[in-house]
Amino acid sequence: MIDFALGEEHRAVKEAVRQFITKEVMPLEDEVLLNERNGRPALEPGQLKDLQAKARKYGYWGINTPEEYGGMAAGAVMSAIIAGEAGRTFVPFRFGGSADNILYAGTEEQKQEYLIPTIEGERRSCFAITEPGAGSDARSIRTRAVRDGDDWVINGEKIFITNGNEADFVMVFAVTDPEKGADGGVTCFLVDRAMGWESTPIPTMGEWGPAALSFQDVRVPNDHILGEEGKGFELAMQWIGNGRFMIPAGAIGAAERMLEMAIEHANNRQSMGQPIANYQFIQGHIADSAVELEAARWLTLHAAWQVENKMDARHASSVAKLYGTNMANRVVDRVLQIHGGMGYTKELPLERWYRELRLLRIFEGTDEIQRRTIARNLLKGHVKVGASLA
Ligand SMILES: Cc1cc2nc3c(=O)[nH]c(=O)nc-3n(C[C@H](O)[C@H](O)[C@H](O)COP(=O)(O)OP(=O)(O)OC[C@H]3O[C@@H](n4cnc5c(N)ncnc54)[C@H](O)[C@@H]3O)c2cc1C
Repeated sequence: MIDFALGEEHRAVKEAVRQFITKEVMPLEDEVLLNERNGRPALEPGQLKDLQAKARKYGYWGINTPEEYGGMAAGAVMSAIIAGEAGRTFVPFRFGGSADNILYAGTEEQKQEYLIPTIEGERRSCFAITEPGAGSDARSIRTRAVRDGDDWVINGEKIFITNGNEADFVMVFAVTDPEKGADGGVTCFLVDRAMGWESTPIPTMGEWGPAALSFQDVRVPNDHILGEEGKGFELAMQWIGNGRFMIPAGAIGAAERMLEMAIEHANNRQSMGQPIANYQFIQGHIADSAVELEAARWLTLHAAWQVENKMDARHASSVAKLYGTNMANRVVDRVLQIHGGMGYTKELPLERWYRELRLLRIFEGTDEIQRRTIARNLLKGHVKVGASLA
């Protein structure tokens, strides 16, 4: 049997998260826009902590965190639903109580030093694989770690690292065996900022202000290897692949809200004696957006369902990311168009979404890399046409 309905728990959580986002987070939107105009951070760290504490009272803490670490242990489908609701606002709010999935690969000591304080919000991590010479081609990283007694000495540059300006430790990927490279010669290290790496902010067109990281003779004890020596590339792929469906999940929320704005504006805005909603060009923008939004929703839920059921979700996740992020970019463009000149101003959130959503087509695998993966899976027979129902 195919069942397209959400379960009762899914519906109840969706409704409650919507209430929380509408009541507690959306009212901050004007302030966030003003802060951006004045060159201030969107939310002060204290504001974010307060919001996270409020969310915790509602029961939303550590959405994907296992129960033994005090989290909700929500499945992938529930996580996608929650991300969709949070995506309805551009306020950069993240539910607290979670840590990067690969930190669970740490030793007991590493869990105490890095994982648990990150879950509690006392420490902040960043994930650094991209380099000036190796982005999509992550197998070609050159940051080098050389063994010296009980330590490793790391030298190299990383670029575009989210949270790199604020983090107090980094999960950095370095070559420990150049002959093997990504096939057994890359290792992940947990490196405190106090050990000597430096960050420089990179201004971007959106809210995401990543950093360039510099490692110059940074000395790291051997027991700071995360996972096994030489198994870093697998960890990096686990970090990236695990939550790929979450990116279109958030984009769906943004597209939903924008489509609602478009419908309201089209019904209210008069031109040449009638509401612009009467014009077929405007109806086309609305209809195309609604159709693509629904398609993205089902592709994303399907990918999440595969993850939840421990199936190989890589193909479905690439399909959902490629389609869902492009859908949101098309929707924001159409909705901005429907709003005319007002859409282009900073009075409305549309121009901000226009800039923010653009990033989704670049990080965690560009459009082209998703297309490459999808085509390769089909051309090499790893996935059969129509196999999504199998
Ligand atoms: C705001 C932001 C935050 C980020 N956060 C992080 C982070 O936290 N940690 C981290 O490690 N990285 C992060 N990244 C890096 C991001 O993952 C890379 O930018 C991305 O993978 C693309 O790499 P690149 O920029 O080097 O582009 P390139 O790989 O140089 O690609 C340039 C163009 O060529 C295309 N291309 C490349 N190879 C192929 C191919 N084989 N076939 C077809 N087309 C190809 C690409 O699709 C793209 O269009 C972030 C980036 C940004 C912008």
